[in-house]
Amino acid sequence: GSADGPSEVDVLIVGAGPAGLMMANWMSRCGIRTRIVDKRGTKIYNGQADGLQCRTLEIFDSFDFGHRAWIESNHMLEICLWNPDAKTGIIHRSDRIPDTIPNISRFQQVVLHQGRIERFFLDSISENSKRTLKDVPGWEDGIKVEHGVLPTSLEFDETLAENTDAYPITVKLRHLSEEEATPKQSATSLNGSGLQDGLFRSNLSSDDTQELLDKTKLLQAKAGREETVKAKYMLGADGAHSWVRNQLGFKLQGESTDYIWGVLDIVPITDFPDIRMRCAIHSESSGSVMVIPRENKLVRLYIQLTTTENAGGGQKADRSKINPESILASAQRILRPYKITYRYCDWWTAYQIGQRVGDSFSLKERIFLAGDAVHTHSPKAGQGMNVSMQDAFNLGWKVASVVNGTSNRSILKTYQSERRRIAQDLIDFDHRFSRLFSGRPAKDVLDEEGISMDEFKRAFEKGNLFASGVAVDYGASIVVAKSGDSTKQGDGTEVLGAEKLRVISNQGLAAEIKVGMRMPSFKVLNQADARPWHFQELLKSNGTWRVVVFAGNIKIPDQMAKINRLGEKLSSSASFLTRFTPPNKRYDSVFELLSVHSAPRQEVTIFDFPPVFHPWDDNDGWDYWKIFVDDVSYHEGYGDAYNNYGVNKEKGCAVILRPDQYVSWVGEVDDYESMEKFFSGFMVEQPGGRDRVGVNGWEGMSR
Ligand code: FAD
Repeated sequence: GSADGPSEVDVLIVGAGPAGLMMANWMSRCGIRTRIVDKRGTKIYNGQADGLQCRTLEIFDSFDFGHRAWIESNHMLEICLWNPDAKTGIIHRSDRIPDTIPNISRFQQVVLHQGRIERFFLDSISENSKRTLKDVPGWEDGIKVEHGVLPTSLEFDETLAENTDAYPITVKLRHLSEEEATPKQSATSLNGSGLQDGLFRSNLSSDDTQELLDKTKLLQAKAGREETVKAKYMLGADGAHSWVRNQLGFKLQGESTDYIWGVLDIVPITDFPDIRMRCAIHSESSGSVMVIPRENKLVRLYIQLTTTENAGGGQKADRSKINPESILASAQRILRPYKITYRYCDWWTAYQIGQRVGDSFSLKERIFLAGDAVHTHSPKAGQGMNVSMQDAFNLGWKVASVVNGTSNRSILKTYQSERRRIAQDLIDFDHRFSRLFSGRPAKDVLDEEGISMDEFKRAFEKGNLFASGVAVDYGASIVVAKSGDSTKQGDGTEVLGAEKLRVISNQGLAAEIKVGMRMPSFKVLNQADARPWHFQELLKSNGTWRVVVFAGNIKIPDQMAKINRLGEKLSSSASFLTRFTPPNKRYDSVFELLSVHSAPRQEVTIFDFPPVFHPWDDNDGWDYWKIFVDDVSYHEGYGDAYNNYGVNKEKGCAVILRPDQYVSWVGEVDDYESMEKFFSGFMVEQPGGRDRVGVNGWEGMSR
């Protein structure tokens, strides 16, 4: 290839939408040599996705930019349901429900323009990759998103698929001219319009002007050039029309009914009292509208029309008639007797989307697909961007740990087994929800064609848990030590490495830390400085596994003896901390040991714990950020973590968390043997030599 960029990479990502950026973000944290290309010349159109689930905010927080989204976004707290009155037919507010189910997360659902979210990713990728790749020759500048670049051919050498060090993927990349790379707004808008770019971008993204200018220069210099790149792994995150998926011959399967949607982002002028609430409004016979209050005084109106006879209240939609005026006119009819109009329209679109799932998410666990490339559905429940990012969030650490040589390739199979079921659930959910949303309200119980508003409310409430993203529950696998006598999981695929499932959790020891689900969060105090932390805040996405020791009441001598014995095993030179840590690395780059005890804070110091629980560094001394206590804070109340987690306050328990915060295993506090077996199921034995735990006085450990 030419000298455009490194011609050998660990990971090549095609597509810099939410899914591709999440993948690049993981790679930047884990120091993986990565290129990410996008055919688009500029960053993003206006509008598009805006809803962020609470699980997505938890994930953003684990990457240190949750606060940016939280501060800039509009927070949605309540959903109002409006329906026709049984007697008069005039719409009235029939119900209010919380938008996010209280207490399921420390965040609530918010809305923020997709372009801002991409900006947070770009900043994070740049900053972190410069740090993690600074010593890798040719990669000192870190990972950059390359715009105006797209693949023209893909070759895959199957014979090299299982060879860890091989580069079985060969891709030709073409650098576009500036003109070619400038998007027409064709993918999402059927009619196109002069409204979209500009205004909004200058409001919110003034910080990237220089970047856009630089990009243009770069594009001109390289325009029309082609280069060859060899990759170990590849991700197709190139959206619903995925080129990568087509190259692999994979298909999207499912529903052929295509719904047409009209979307309008305006600053509304109205006397409708709930315009700053999320609303689902069903009119008697003029259709339905979803109201999404947004940042910067904006409100989004969603109107669904269908192409199929009767499915959407009788009329067949005519796309050519959809424009801002017609969308507004529908809203005006639905909202009667309230009035709505606008002076400022930020963006609008009309688009068509089917509900489909990919038949396969990977080729030989070398080339993966994520996001819209493997699932498409309506935007009604605000899921697409979230689920797309969460696909890559599931995949990223797995690929990174295989490239880094700490895990063997078997864990890569869990990507499809875990995410395909989520995609299927999403499509089922969207299907039910769309039907209920677009239907005409039933006049009475005998009106069978109409939609029961009680059913709609129940679906909304149930849907809310699903839509939050926290209900995800991964099936048994080599990285989820769940009990279960079947070797099949939900989607009928074999439980991975069933023969290796030698470790089964004892779920009863922590009833609310559910194996397969993400670690819930309650406040605990730092033992050394008494500061309260939400437990989840400690679980940063940096690629490390976590062994969380709920040490119980260490003032009880028997309990302290157990912790001491566990400490001895963990710091022995045969410990899994040592065996699976690559040479020249500290064990806490692979495993982080966190503990939470339940003895009174003021009667304990960190030195009551064996040193492996608060590791040493020659330059920095002891690590004060590993030992926590379940006790009352001065200013932020009492998290009551043991009770909330369902853990016995005297005996405690131990928990293994994956690098993505999902729970792998729950067992007895001193069950070192099960921990060891669990990690032996997929981790790579490292050449010995150096004492990476530093048993003898801890000298010689530094970062
Ligand atoms: P995309 O965002 O489609 O990104 C794919 C990227 O790949 C693009 O940048 C594209 O330029 C690039 N690309 C494509 N082909 C190639 C190629 N051959 N070579 C190189 N690059 C290529 N989701 C929500 O969660 N909440 C919402 O509220 C929401 N609202 C929506 C509203 C609208 C109007 C629309 C249209 C969608 C909405 N969605 C919402 C869905 C959401 O936008 C998508 O699900 C999400 O963007 C998918 O992310 P992705 O990274 O998989 O794909």
